[in-house]
Amino acid sequence: MAEYKNKQEVKKELQKNKKTFKEIKQVVFGVIILSMVGYGLFWIITLPKIPQSELISSTGIHWHSSISIIIKGEKVNIPTNIGIGAVHSPMHTHESDGTIHMEYNGVVYEKDTHLRRFFEIWGKNFNSKGIMGNINGKDGVLRMTVNGVENSEFENYSIKDGDTIEIIFE
Ligand SMILES: [Zn+2]
Ligand SMILES: [Zn+2]
Repeated sequence: MAEYKNKQEVKKELQKNKKTFKEIKQVVFGVIILSMVGYGLFWIITLPKIPQSELISSTGIHWHSSISIIIKGEKVNIPTNIGIGAVHSPMHTHESDGTIHMEYNGVVYEKDTHLRRFFEIWGKNFNSKGIMGNINGKDGVLRMTVNGVENSEFENYSIKDGDTIEIIFE
């Protein structure tokens, strides 16, 4: 009988099948591991690159600085509760003395501390081209000092803890 297999032959075949199954399992496992590693690498490579120099803190900040604005000889009133409302902005005022509170949680980047942010939150226009409807070079000259030192960064200035910022348009 050609179809008849003795016990030993059946055992051999079973072992062979077992071995093949083991090999397939190894290949599948290998492919899964490789794709996981590949995905991990892809994720790392495509992460947005933020230079360490732009990182202010990774554990939050609570800074205070002060701002005063004088337009054509008149002091501009800085209201209380700028940035405090339905949305509580990490950059805000509590007093009317021009104190800017910067209360950020977690990771803080340099762009979070730009003076531009304060004016955006306040809803007033300010940049090197002018302030609150006054055009620099046309209606007058815009100047800014930080701790008494002339500063030409204007809206791009990154506020530091303890800063005294003066903006003068005359
Ligand atoms: Zn504060
Ligand atoms: Zn506060």
